[in-house]
Amino acid sequence: MYPTINLSIAGEWREPVSGDSDPVTNPATGETVGRVPHASVADLDLALEAADQAFRQWSRVSVFDRYKIMRRAADLVRERSGDIARIMTLEQGKPLSESRAETLAGADIIDWFAEEARRVYGRIIPSRNPDVQQFVYKEPVGPVAAFTPWNFPINQAVRKLSGALANGCSVILKGPEETPGSCAELVRAFMDAGVTPGAVNLVFGTPSEISEYLIAHPVIRKVTFTGSTSVGKRIAALAGEHMKRITMELGGHAPVIVFEDADLDGALKVLAASKYRNAGQVCVCPSRFIVHESLYDDFVSRFADFASNLVVGDGTSEKTQMGPLANERRLASISEMVSDARDKGAKVVSGGDPVSGPGYFYPPTVLADVPVSSMLMNQEPFGPVASINPFGSFDEAVSESNRLSYGLAAYVYTRSSRTANAISAAIESGMVSINHYGLALPEVPFGGVKDSGYGSEGGLEAMEPYQVTKFVTQTGFQS
Ligand code: NAD
Repeated sequence: MYPTINLSIAGEWREPVSGDSDPVTNPATGETVGRVPHASVADLDLALEAADQAFRQWSRVSVFDRYKIMRRAADLVRERSGDIARIMTLEQGKPLSESRAETLAGADIIDWFAEEARRVYGRIIPSRNPDVQQFVYKEPVGPVAAFTPWNFPINQAVRKLSGALANGCSVILKGPEETPGSCAELVRAFMDAGVTPGAVNLVFGTPSEISEYLIAHPVIRKVTFTGSTSVGKRIAALAGEHMKRITMELGGHAPVIVFEDADLDGALKVLAASKYRNAGQVCVCPSRFIVHESLYDDFVSRFADFASNLVVGDGTSEKTQMGPLANERRLASISEMVSDARDKGAKVVSGGDPVSGPGYFYPPTVLADVPVSSMLMNQEPFGPVASINPFGSFDEAVSESNRLSYGLAAYVYTRSSRTANAISAAIESGMVSINHYGLALPEVPFGGVKDSGYGSEGGLEAMEPYQVTKFVTQTGFQS
């Protein structure tokens, strides 16, 4: 059921030079389902050499051919989505329906970047002197080091691979060690579609060793990271030391403001389902619910009803609506945050106690009246816990929304366009979704502000990070 995974270097699947590997665990059972190869510096050197050479070739492949190859990769991902989804659920735990949706959405992302590859234009700037011509070229930045996490093994990686390849860059991807199989299948699709050998390389190992080696290496010209804010800050510092361009897609703690005039049924339907998607292990997960006091009691009790009726179990069962947490660290962290909130006076309205093994299950949980001093109200929960508090005035809602250093996603429910305009202007967030869940489509920007990072992984803004601007001014020709 679970594939043999190798490193991908220079267009070939290879065992690591050391022969070392680490176990891959099924979080629904706690059992080892496979092995992930552990790269050492010798493997990284091979990947760097491959990425360097492939960059020279791939960057010269015409954009029309790049487009065709990438479209083929998208089709391969679609054709293989059933198998890929099964691998993803085994290693990550999310329900099969979510794994399938993620895989198919990945194919759409490849398509979108493939199309944008054909629309990278330079420009001509009118000069002050009629004998002078001024040109602006957009060139690929060079070989990219990309680091992606385990919560969306395909989705996090596909944005980076597609952005880089569309612009003519080669990539070394350090994939997620906890969920390597589905990510490797994504890389396989690009290789099978005909990407220049070495334009996509895949490694796994000790994250800090790999990032320190790759980021410092002169071959690497661009760094892109998705993960926690704390690690992101370390990576950004390292990249700064070596003057490497970076994109940072980091954590969030999304506020959700439900105003007095909200469509409560609509809000509950969308928000409760989004809260428990992937067991809450989503960077844009609705997280700090701030509900107008006139709707508060109703909202809390109906949210808790939804949570307590969710079918939790092994994601391979089609009945499962929420799977386990991805690993033991998440289980320990969520348990600690909920205990801390309870000790500080929060009301547990639903869930709240870890489920005994096997697997890393935690029930869908709802906490009400959560003190702002609790860990849960300050650190990204990254788990199936909703904290709900009441508010009275618009200013109170804004001040709670902007209280933290995070600024990734925010959600608002109101029937007033005036309130919607005022709140979207006041919120410090990279993305604001009003009266629906409208984030993460390939064609729209995706990224945060403040400690949630910078740069975008969607929309036109996701192309620029892989380009450098070259200005050429010329005059003085005789023929
Ligand atoms: P973590 O901080 O240990 O790791 C987060 C990710 O960064 C992992 O993929 C890990 O492999 C990678 N990483 C860690 N150290 C690294 C290094 N020195 N160089 C390169 N990569 C490195 O946290 P975790 O326990 O795996 O995940 C929990 C936290 O991470 C969550 O609370 C959440 O804040 C954050 N996270 C965010 C996202 C996101 O989509 N933004 C995804 C996964 C995890």
